Amino acid sequence: MSGVERKPLTVEQLRGMDKPTPVWMETDKKTIEGWGGYWCLCQRGHILTPGMVSMYADKMDGATFYAYPPARIDREKWELCMWCVPNGQFGVNNYCSACGRPLTEEAWAELERKLIV
Ligand SMILES: [Zn+2]
Repeated sequence: MSGVERKPLTVEQLRGMDKPTPVWMETDKKTIEGWGGYWCLCQRGHILTPGMVSMYADKMDGATFYAYPPARIDREKWELCMWCVPNGQFGVNNYCSACGRPLTEEAWAELERKLIV
C-alpha cells in the first residue's frame, strides 16, 4: 500500500490544455519498452506519445496521466532502524533522527512532496 498517491489528471483537465503540455503517462501494464511511464504531449485531450502515436486520452485503456511523475518511495525497502519508533527517543518531528526515515503518514507525504519539487 502506498498511502500517498498523486492525483491523476482528469479528462476535463486534459481537454483544458490549449497548448501542447507535457503530461506523464502511466499504464496498467508496462509499456512496450518495459517502462513504467513516460512523458507525452497533451493538447485538448489529445495525447501524442514519444513514439509519435496520437490518440484521445479517454480512448487509452488503462492509461493514467499526471502533471508530473508520481513520487514513489519504496517504503518496504527503507527498513526501520533500531531507533525508528514514532514519538520515541529519537523521533524528532515525525522523522527518525538516527536514519531519517519518516515515522508517520504525514511525514511520508511531506517527504514525497519534497521529492517532486
Ligand atoms: Zn530510524
